Amino acid sequence: MTKLTFYSGLKEIGGTLVGVETDRAVCFFDFGFSNADRLDSKVPLRKGREAFDYVKLGVLNAVDGIYEKDVAKKLGVAAYGETGKEVFIIISHMHIDHMGGLGCIDQRVPVYMSRDSKTLYSAMGAMGELEVREHENVIACDYDKPFTVGDITVTSVQVDHDVIGACGFQIETGDGRICYTGDYRYHGYHPDVSAAFAEKCKGADLMISEGVTISHSDIDVLSLEGPMRENTELTLLDKMKDYAASEEGLIVINNYNRNVERIHNFARVIKEAGRELVLDSIQAEYVAAFYEDDEFSVYLPEGGSISAPHAKNHPIVTRNDILAAPSHYVLQQDYKDVYELFDLASVISIYLHMDGAPLGDYDPSYAKFYELLEVAGINVVRCGLGGHAEPYYLRHTVDVIEPKILVPLHSFRPEQLVSEHAGKIILPEIGDTITL
Ligand SMILES: [Zn+2]
Ligand SMILES: [Zn+2]
Repeated sequence: MTKLTFYSGLKEIGGTLVGVETDRAVCFFDFGFSNADRLDSKVPLRKGREAFDYVKLGVLNAVDGIYEKDVAKKLGVAAYGETGKEVFIIISHMHIDHMGGLGCIDQRVPVYMSRDSKTLYSAMGAMGELEVREHENVIACDYDKPFTVGDITVTSVQVDHDVIGACGFQIETGDGRICYTGDYRYHGYHPDVSAAFAEKCKGADLMISEGVTISHSDIDVLSLEGPMRENTELTLLDKMKDYAASEEGLIVINNYNRNVERIHNFARVIKEAGRELVLDSIQAEYVAAFYEDDEFSVYLPEGGSISAPHAKNHPIVTRNDILAAPSHYVLQQDYKDVYELFDLASVISIYLHMDGAPLGDYDPSYAKFYELLEVAGINVVRCGLGGHAEPYYLRHTVDVIEPKILVPLHSFRPEQLVSEHAGKIILPEIGDTITL
């Protein structure tokens, strides 16, 4: 018998946690933060109590078989190794709402992720960008190559999302085949990869789908006849090329730093336009970990230092270098360094906000950020793309897979995802269990 339990992340965007349990094993996916708005940056978690605090906040879940003994005891669940079953976790991609909790589990829990996700995860660890600590037992899996734990066989199937290494999964037990989309899109560099995911998952007994883009307004997905959007990673790349060729001063970009393929492509067109791409040390490290031949420089903040193991041989650029020849550079900058703009504002001709934080007005920093840009007199253009399939493609993917059962989640309005090609649609409540 195979039981699926839905712990969290059903009618919200974040914190999807589903457990697939058989006689011999339990597979959990994903392991990120839910209810993240309950966290307050003004109240730090207690050292050594992080897992407990997160569970009490409802950011992580109290489940059997993954926590260390003392934490599990306080939570009233079985610790790692105490369930009599092989427990493991699979992670679809490196977004905090899908992997943020990994620093809180017993270091021995096997955590599977794609090879690219593992490379990025290690780079995030090296740059101090992980929550709590880096998990030790991370196992890389190759796309389309099944692996088996106990009596559960898992295959990671690549999708296109705005982070490198993203995949969905097919999970097979003696009772059937489950597919999970993770997060995906059709407007990235590889729409063919997302299309191939649907082909490979055809005929699944149960499909679990994200539904981010149907979260906010009334959408009749059955009536959609085709994709609507025109802006894609390729049109953004053209835009970058045009700005690099035509702007007269410094160009600053505020991008999402785990979308390393975008920066990899930018590096090429920016160089062709005769400019030099300058990255902060975290972005530099992420790009260098994947693309060792990419040409870019690393920004050295005043009084700062750079420690980026993969990017250490790249040239250094300082604020004075940029002030002396602003039209020679494209500077990538994270929101946390935004005060640096006070020194650069006079030479900036355009600031491109392209998927970097703060992302939208749900983030309290967003209004502060735009006010700062206005006060500093900076010309800003919003040109973000996001990482989620538009409603037409959410339905189209279900149409192609034709699952016996569809479970939409990872959406404020999962009930809006419907298809004439799904046998039946189930909208579970938190804690519900389905038997396959
Ligand atoms: Zn997500
Ligand atoms: Zn995501």
